[in-house]
Amino acid sequence: MLRRQRNGIAWWVFENMMAESGLVQAFSTRQGGISDGIYASLNLSVSTGDSAQRVQENFRRFCTAVDVPPEDVVKGWMVHGRDVAVVTAADRGRRLSPHDILLTDVPGVPLFMTFADCVPLVLFDPRRRAVALAHAGWRGTGLRVAEVSVQAMTDAFGSRPGDLLAGIGPSIGPDHYQVGTEVISMLTAVHRHPEHLWLQRNGHYWLNLWAANAQQLADAGVQHVEVARLCTACHLEDFYSHRAEHGKTGRLGALVMLADL
Ligand SMILES: [Zn+2]
Repeated sequence: MLRRQRNGIAWWVFENMMAESGLVQAFSTRQGGISDGIYASLNLSVSTGDSAQRVQENFRRFCTAVDVPPEDVVKGWMVHGRDVAVVTAADRGRRLSPHDILLTDVPGVPLFMTFADCVPLVLFDPRRRAVALAHAGWRGTGLRVAEVSVQAMTDAFGSRPGDLLAGIGPSIGPDHYQVGTEVISMLTAVHRHPEHLWLQRNGHYWLNLWAANAQQLADAGVQHVEVARLCTACHLEDFYSHRAEHGKTGRLGALVMLADL
């Protein structure tokens, strides 16, 4: 990924999608907002107790920096599931009912979700002109959200997996993600080569969510995958990390939108 900056707001973009015209993509950082303390500074969610006014101003700044009208943004509601919402022009400005996978083929409809360690997944189909944004923590990864998202693009828009450009965004890395045996059991049950998905050290398991999601995308036939390899817990200057900050932190935002050509 590459880091971008404007008016004190910084965000990351996938390099494999930059060459494609007509796609807006932005993964926010903590930089440039007005929240303070554990939320400093560009917190984009009220879910952990920050003031609604500050979050609203942060959101306005982020959207302005990336040239997206804040009033049009369609906000996801993530519940660690794998339900799919096909978003239309009528959804502009709405907060959706619970869905961890959002898709659209309508230009000017920005899809938005918030994160603090879970994996943001983006799928862009430059041929069919469609985009997906999905949320995969360990539960979503265990539900094969990445593969379900690819199938949903095919079902909704006729996307061919080989045409898709995929991105695995900033999220907790294997060096910081110790998990219990129940998580390892869940992933073992749904992966063909689970032994590549974790390290074992001193009797503990360290899960690689990036590798698990990349493996699912490959299983689904996606050939162009960019893994950001940006660990939220390693880079607290740029990211919020639920794990590294013991739940007392804010949320990053992931936004994708098809632009008019
Ligand atoms: Zn790390």
